[in-house]
Amino acid sequence: MIIILKSGISPRQEASVLKEIRKRGYRPHVMRGVARTVIGAIGDELTHQSLETLMTAFPGVVESVMPVQKRYKLVSREAHPSPSTVRVRENVIGGRIFHVMAGPCSVEREKQLLKTAEAVKAAGATILRGGAFKPRTSPYEFQGLGVKGLKLLAKARRETGLPVITELLSETHAELVAEYADILQIGARNSQNFQLLIAAAKTGKPVLLKRGLSMKVEEWLLAGEYVLANENPNLMLCERGIRTFETYTRNTLDLSAIPIIKKESHCPVVIDPSQGAGRADLVAAMCKGAVAMGADALLIEVHPNPAEAWSDGAQQVSLEIFAKLMRELRPFILAAGREPAPVPN
Ligand code: PEP
Ligand code: MN
Repeated sequence: MIIILKSGISPRQEASVLKEIRKRGYRPHVMRGVARTVIGAIGDELTHQSLETLMTAFPGVVESVMPVQKRYKLVSREAHPSPSTVRVRENVIGGRIFHVMAGPCSVEREKQLLKTAEAVKAAGATILRGGAFKPRTSPYEFQGLGVKGLKLLAKARRETGLPVITELLSETHAELVAEYADILQIGARNSQNFQLLIAAAKTGKPVLLKRGLSMKVEEWLLAGEYVLANENPNLMLCERGIRTFETYTRNTLDLSAIPIIKKESHCPVVIDPSQGAGRADLVAAMCKGAVAMGADALLIEVHPNPAEAWSDGAQQVSLEIFAKLMRELRPFILAAGREPAPVPN
């Protein structure tokens, strides 16, 4: 920690701060400038009382207290300078191949899911998405098919070979959902549910952590730290739009998160343009922007008949639009120095 003292303080006041720093178990190093004194305190915050309260404990003496180190460690670039990759069956996310995860917002019926799975696979998607447990803002909206939805996802995987990503809503379902899913999605509304993050990490399955609706990048990285700190290195960070004052979009897709996360962290970055904009007509443009800015993968909502979707109808693209979008993305993927996944014959 760096502790900056106010100008014009007496040696006695300085000594009292130094005494308190030592009392809390830290070693202080004093640096005296012309106008003010700065103290570097060395010690471990996990096992000792934080020094953050020095400002309130010595209001007339301490000007500010700042951490030297980033609060996240395992997710940081310093801990792992090269980009990390996440293996999902035979797919490697974060490597040379650009991956697209696609499928309906919610699993509704067998036919809807299988038809979507076949179509997104044919268009070049490598992972099937679909919510079985849905986090709905209102308790009167469709909550998902639950276990029946998980079983349908497993069936779609058997028939298409596509691995499956689905949301884990509750700690009590961790083992159950992990039995069916290849990637556990932690939704925006649960992104700081730390017990859920720990439970997800402990299943050993790859975790895709959405950014919360009002989450700062630092909070998002710290939430991701919970996964890595619980011995699960397979973390992907997914930007899905944050809440702003703008009403033309459902959320504001913060594409600046891509270069920021790439700079701060080694974890693969996934962009969800569907929750991000909340508008099917904006999905293609958002995807192109995300690819160009260095995202590693996309998570896109696709429905055979968006007008009849049981959730998020306005933002899901049809099978035809998805196929067109995948064709349009190719030059962007190549320009970004990546390769599109091979399209099955
Ligand atoms: C979803 O992917 O359908 C979803 C509910 O996402 P989010 O948690 O980002 O709102
Ligand atoms: Mn959705």
